[in-house]
Amino acid sequence: MIKRLIALVRQKNNGISPYIWTILCILPFYFILQSSSTVAIIIGILLTVIFFICYRFAFIAKGWSIYVWTLLLIGISVTATISFSYVYFAFFIAYFVGRIHKLITFRVLYFIQLIAISISIYIAFMQKDALFVHQIPFVVITWLCTLLLPFSIRSRNERGRLEMKLEDANKKIAELVKLEERARIARDLHDTLGQKLSLIGLKSDLARRLISSNPDQAKAELKDVQQTARTALNEVRTMVSSMRGIRLKDEIIRIQQILDAAQIHLTREGEFKLSKVTLLTENILSMCLKEAVTNVVKHSGASNCYISIEQSWKEIVLTIRDDGEFKDLSAFFEKGHGLRGMKERLEFVNGSLDVHLKEGTAIIIRVPNNGKQTDKEDLS
Ligand code: ATP
Ligand code: MG
Repeated sequence: MIKRLIALVRQKNNGISPYIWTILCILPFYFILQSSSTVAIIIGILLTVIFFICYRFAFIAKGWSIYVWTLLLIGISVTATISFSYVYFAFFIAYFVGRIHKLITFRVLYFIQLIAISISIYIAFMQKDALFVHQIPFVVITWLCTLLLPFSIRSRNERGRLEMKLEDANKKIAELVKLEERARIARDLHDTLGQKLSLIGLKSDLARRLISSNPDQAKAELKDVQQTARTALNEVRTMVSSMRGIRLKDEIIRIQQILDAAQIHLTREGEFKLSKVTLLTENILSMCLKEAVTNVVKHSGASNCYISIEQSWKEIVLTIRDDGEFKDLSAFFEKGHGLRGMKERLEFVNGSLDVHLKEGTAIIIRVPNNGKQTDKEDLS
């Protein structure tokens, strides 16, 4: 029986050590054995056993039967307090009442148990029984628990329920995001590959029909087929690479090519292969790097570009500096969309962007270094 009870109160979220409950289960027998008459001892043991049986049923009860079982429990507790100076059944009742989900039932039973236990303590006190008087400090603690424990248990259970709901909602959102992503891929495939393939089908059919009557026209159609196939392949590649995300170490190679083409000398500093950074953060950094370098090529007229990256435990700092011309700082965020877009994306990962104008333009990007790369994310 005691084992069952311990298992019952050991349920997740109970918060109170099972050992205390074990002591509370054994303690009534100690009090009962203090009685002088055998009849009283037998009645006490029976009451205790009945209490635990009722307690078991109270936990599985539904609807109005909760009232019946709880009132029985309160009755036994009151009898134990008055007859055996044993007040500690009140802990069990307070814990049980705290677990009642329905607000009205909780309120009614809370007040009944509080009043009943207060009255029984008062009566026991008036009897001036030595055993009761000796344990007054513990009685006060028990009474306080009767007052407060139900609320604390109830609020913790409510929080647990809310957390579960939140977890469910998050799972649903993740599912919806996946569905949306699938729909987007389907749309992209339809709009790019689908159309190109049907065009290839039509044109090759036309070429087949023209091949004997008008070979020149057929040749032109086949050339179109070839061109369309190439474009489709490029589009698929772009789609796939945009799905995989861009790594900084790959982006820096492309940046080198862009700057070479613009005859701007690139000086690199730092390790562009980041460790333990989320794919999202790395993608955003890559996009910002690309935009900043495009701006260097478009607006600065510089002959040197310096790109440095520093990864510390706290943050990642990416600096793109040039030795070109610059305008007023106000022009930077007013004109185009590039810098504004960078700022918005960085805000997404709690990052920041600063522009320093001194012997050229320096764009300083900071993102917190708190992401952990998972195997799933590591697609490269
Ligand atoms: P887009 O929307 O195509 O990026 P944009 O490049 O003009 O247009 P931003 O990237 O937001 O827009 O840049 C805003 C302005 O800041 C630019 O028009 C330019 O005047 C200035 N600027 C940005 N980077 C540099 C740089 N490296 N050197 C000099 N001026 C710059
Ligand atoms: Mg730009």
